[in-house]
Amino acid sequence: MGITETKIYPINTGWLEADLGTYIFWKGPAGKKYWNPVYCYYVDTGKHKILVDTGLCDEERATKYHHKCEKRGCLEVHDHLEQKLGVHPDEIDAIVFTHLHWDHVQNMKKFKNARYIAPKGEIEMAYNPLPLYYRTYECGILDIEPPYAGCVFEAVEEECEVLPGITMFHTPGHSVGHMGVTVTTSMGDIVIAGDAIFCERNLDPNPSEKWRHWVPARFVNSFEGWKSVEEIDKRADYVLPCHDEPANARSTVYPYEGMPIRKRRQPIPGYKFYFGDMPAGMANKAAPAMSKKEADEFIASLVDPKDMAEY
Ligand SMILES: [Zn+2]
Repeated sequence: MGITETKIYPINTGWLEADLGTYIFWKGPAGKKYWNPVYCYYVDTGKHKILVDTGLCDEERATKYHHKCEKRGCLEVHDHLEQKLGVHPDEIDAIVFTHLHWDHVQNMKKFKNARYIAPKGEIEMAYNPLPLYYRTYECGILDIEPPYAGCVFEAVEEECEVLPGITMFHTPGHSVGHMGVTVTTSMGDIVIAGDAIFCERNLDPNPSEKWRHWVPARFVNSFEGWKSVEEIDKRADYVLPCHDEPANARSTVYPYEGMPIRKRRQPIPGYKFYFGDMPAGMANKAAPAMSKKEADEFIASLVDPKDMAEY
């Protein structure tokens, strides 16, 4: 037992169409549509069999109430687990939720032996959503039965290790109570970012605005959201955002030999961090600053969102 055994298996539950400018990137190319996957994760620690989020429903329900959806052969979480990974839903002993938006919670009742662990702020919002978010949480007022109807959650209020090697930490902004999930592995801390960022590119600069991070545009609170992006940058040796294809498809299992390890909180000349230093106990994990020359080359190498690969 131990961290050397922990493995994360990304599960793609389908594809949604979103707008690059009003959703994926703040001040991005508005009007340009972008198909993004909806991942959830099976985490096997050797001692526990865990899911982080449970992903999408079927195409019809998704398209009817939310965004245009294509399954493209992807299965719902319980079927994927059983057919592709050989894990029966009854073997799952806990589900950890980053947040309770509709595309992260479907089919949770299929896992009848699982504890449901979720951020306190999300549980409260799911059961009593601000009217703006009736649809996002599939509120019963719209005559939909929410996937969590009748479920009892364990509420997480403060950062904590919810299971051995699995830590939840605050990343609000995309939603009120959103939390990231750090999985301790033999190759470092892999952060399952939920929707605090949509894709890896959100962690790199927006050169025309001089932003250190090109943050997503879908927020309930942009101040907290920016802070959360910086928080992920400080904590992650690798990031798995739920809606990014390349980050999740480099391997069928994480960590893996040759996995690109990112640099945490690396200063880039001309691009300021807004919030404080590394979290307590992690100061020595911050990367040294780029030189001016390195920064120029790095900035020149960045993909503009309007030129991102399409799926
Ligand atoms: Zn989402």
